Amino acid sequence: MSDRSLAEELKSITGPAGCLDGEAARDWRVPPFPNAPKRAAKAIVRPANTDEVSRVLKACHAAGQSVIVAGGLTGLVHGADSGGGDVILSLERMNRIRAIDTANRTMTAEAGVIIQTLQEEAEAQGLIYPVDWGARGSAMLGGSLATNAGGNRVIRYGMTRDRVLGIEAVLADGTVIDNLSGLIKNNAGYDLKNLLIGSEGTLAVITAAVLRLSEKPVSQCVALVSSPSFESVTSLLRRMDQTLGGQLSAFEVMWRNSYEVLTSTPEAGRPPKLAPAPYTVLIEAMGPDIARDQVQFEAALEGALEAGLIDDAVIAKSADEVHAIWRIRDNVFAFAAHWPIFTFDVSLPIGAMETYIAQLGTRLQAEFAAAKLFVFGHLGDGNLHLIAAPGAGDAAARAKVEALVYEPLQSFRGSVSAEHGIGLEKRAWLSATRGPHEIALMRQIKQVFDPKNILNPGRILPD
Ligand SMILES: Cc1cc2nc3c(=O)[nH]c(=O)nc-3n(C[C@H](O)[C@H](O)[C@H](O)COP(=O)(O)OP(=O)(O)OC[C@H]3O[C@@H](n4cnc5c(N)ncnc54)[C@H](O)[C@@H]3O)c2cc1C
Repeated sequence: MSDRSLAEELKSITGPAGCLDGEAARDWRVPPFPNAPKRAAKAIVRPANTDEVSRVLKACHAAGQSVIVAGGLTGLVHGADSGGGDVILSLERMNRIRAIDTANRTMTAEAGVIIQTLQEEAEAQGLIYPVDWGARGSAMLGGSLATNAGGNRVIRYGMTRDRVLGIEAVLADGTVIDNLSGLIKNNAGYDLKNLLIGSEGTLAVITAAVLRLSEKPVSQCVALVSSPSFESVTSLLRRMDQTLGGQLSAFEVMWRNSYEVLTSTPEAGRPPKLAPAPYTVLIEAMGPDIARDQVQFEAALEGALEAGLIDDAVIAKSADEVHAIWRIRDNVFAFAAHWPIFTFDVSLPIGAMETYIAQLGTRLQAEFAAAKLFVFGHLGDGNLHLIAAPGAGDAAARAKVEALVYEPLQSFRGSVSAEHGIGLEKRAWLSATRGPHEIALMRQIKQVFDPKNILNPGRILPD
């Protein structure tokens, strides 16, 4: 089938507003951040419902046409990059919340709903969708499922996977899989939804999901504390978890130079007066009683101060101050001042982090004299974000830095991707985390779901 007749067929399925080509395709949604996905395409299809997704995929399958699935385009591993030969399938028009069931505490939402929107809709019912991260205003539900997004509150509520009860998805040949049951317990055979979550658009297009909501906590206690050593930070984590009685909801650690960068731009607001220290930690607890929780929170911090685990603390006294502290942690675009930078998202046992970071810093500087290494992350989840600024941004520099970051992870049984996925960016490094039998099995699974290899080809699996 010629490109022209495929585009005509796609237009006949979605209507003219649902299929962009030519100039309209070039101007379509430019993501507002550096290093955004490359976006060229034969056509951009924007189906309005699951039936249209199914018919679009059926047509592309028949034509052997590659399809790149697009959500909010905030992914950080180039999973949604596209070239001129691809069709982009964007879920942006599938943005309805189909139902909120307050008795079951579930929400059924379509893939194109923005994360912040579904969080706000849940809150209007006295509930929360607790998976939360800096790109909440742009990332979409489908993209978050496809990448199994993590974020700031994994320590308490788990990753996206832990919040999904059912999924609706369309296979490469147009077959619709409807598993929107919303059951908490469902051990009837293989759990296909968990195979699709985190599959980065390589196995199916996710069109909707049933999400598990939680009761909205009444209190949100937040503090920024300075800690003198890595050992103190790890003891602090345990101590806060013990003393806060299950209310600890975030434990975000920023190494000294990262904290300096995160507080260096106007977006961070005026930083609180906190004694400079090797580690700054954002601690959050959420609970059911504003007065009692605040007292418990402050007592826990006082105990940590007396135990020498922290040197100084700033405790938020209002919603504005809570917001101001979180703004610092979310101000990750501030690292762009050190461009060219390479960003990494790795996982490793907490006990191995200090050695790993110290060795990485030394090796980086041995290779690039002017190199800087910034570290911050969701330490409670064993997840660090690393930003290397080696002073060079070319492919050779990137390859060297990748080797320095990823190779040592193997000895700690760490992961080259904690929460961002593999996409195109890390596929050469998949074998640093997954064994040959696992990778072979992944290939077989891909073959079963998408034998013509039309869905997000080349993502995750190395050539
Ligand atoms: C400032 C910032 C902070 C971030 N912080 C975090 C963080 O703390 N934790 C974290 O986990 N991530 C974080 N991210 C990464 C990103 O927001 C997540 O990976 C997010 O889940 C991507 O969602 P998206 O809708 O933007 O997906 P996209 O970027 O559009 O797509 C991501 C991948 O999913 C596929 N995909 C998209 N929609 C579907 C669908 N409906 N069906 C099948 N496949 C699909 C795409 O093809 C691509 O491979 C951050 C990003 C930014 C810019």
